[in-house]
This record gives sequence, C-alpha cells and structure tokens, in this order.
Amino acid sequence: MRKIQVITLFPEMFDGVLNSAMMWKAQNQQAVEFRMVNLRDFGLGPRKRVDDTPYGGGDGMLLMAEPLFAAVNDAKRYCPDAKVVLMTPRGLRWKQSVAQSWADSNYDYIFVCGRYEGVDERILTLVDIQVSVGDYVLTGGELPAMTIIDSIVRLIPGVLGGENSAAIESFSDGETLEYPQYTRPEVFTGLEVPKVLLSGNHAEIAKWRAEHSIKAE
Ligand code: SAM
Repeated sequence: MRKIQVITLFPEMFDGVLNSAMMWKAQNQQAVEFRMVNLRDFGLGPRKRVDDTPYGGGDGMLLMAEPLFAAVNDAKRYCPDAKVVLMTPRGLRWKQSVAQSWADSNYDYIFVCGRYEGVDERILTLVDIQVSVGDYVLTGGELPAMTIIDSIVRLIPGVLGGENSAAIESFSDGETLEYPQYTRPEVFTGLEVPKVLLSGNHAEIAKWRAEHSIKAE
C-alpha cells in the first residue's frame, strides 16, 4: 500500500477531497493510505508558533525551520524512505507524464505545504523534489498538494477501474487532448450527436476521434 503524508497547517482542508469518490475508493481498496501531519503540533512555545519575519526585511512571514524539520522528521519516522516534496512556485512544473511515473513508482511521499511568504530555505536540505502546479501564486501549498495527490492516486493500478480509461485520457500520450464525447439522448434541444458515433463502424469512429483530438501546446 502506498503511503502519502501531508504536512500542513490546515489538515481539515483535505477532508472532503481525500474522503470522497476516487480518493475514498483508493483508501478502501488499500491502494493508498493518507496521513495528515499538523505543522501546528510542532510549533514553538505555549502558543505553538510556526512563523516569523524574514531576515533582511520584507513583507509577510515565513514558516520557521524548526517546526518544519520536526514535522518532516515525524513523517520520516512513520515512513523512512518516503520522498519529501515541497510545494513551491519555483518547482518542477507538474504534468501528466510526471503523475504517471510517480504512480508507477513504488515510492511513498511526504508533501510539505508552504504558507504565508513561504518557508525557511534551510528546509531544502530535507527536500527531494520541489513541485509547482503552474505559473501562478496560491495562498498555500494545500490546493497544489491535493491536485498532485489526486492526479497520482487515480493512476495507481486498479484505482480507476477501467484500466484503459487513463491510457486514452488527455495528455496520456504527452500531446493530445481527449476527443469530444456524448451520451444519451441522441438529440437534445435540437443538438445532435455526430452521426459517425452512432454508426457502429469502429474504424470510422476511431478516425473521427483521432481527427478531433486537439493538440496540447
Ligand atoms: N512568496 C512566494 C513566492 O513569491 O514565490 C509565494 C508564497 S505562497 C503565497 C505560499 C505557499 O503556497 C508557497 O510556499 C507554496 O507552498 C504554495 N504555493 C503557491 N503557489 C504555488 C504553486 N504555483 N505551486 C506549488 N505551490 C504553490
């Protein structure tokens, strides 16, 4: 069973996403186990402080090294060989081929979610991979971590059900997007399903679908 841990100040954000639909099914099938590590539990002093102002000045606060190190070490005790992944706009841009290779690997993962202006740089000494979900800035690493976890877990063999469904999805060959799809009824408010899809001619259907797959940039 794959183990995925998340270090976050907001573990409750993950409840809905990881306990619904495919992610819930994956846990039920024992394909994956999720564990939340609340960074606040490793905060300093009676107020469990986790952030401080940056040296050299500047706006905002940074997550401090000490609670981050303690949280990563706690997650490592639970799963010593897990890869530590930092969510950061500076990281490797996430894409389907990377999700597929992480799903195919046997690695366990520890996702570290930054907040505020980010993290004390010294945490990088414990980090294996830095990952970004795109060239924009979000308030915290939780949404990126959820996105990445979902994209990996649904590709773990057995989780999706129809084993072929991932193989024909958008980006699965690295460049094309999925063709348009339709279901019942054949005509809806005057809008018709393309005739070829009703023809039963599999070769023609495959040709139509190939022609209508849009190339990704
Ligand atoms: N000051 C940082 C900068 O300019 O790059 C942005 C910090 S952001 C407000 C807070 C946290 O959200 C980051 O430490 C990171 O964990 C997460 N985050 C924001 N955008 C992200 C992205 N595109 N990909 C991955 N993580 C992101």
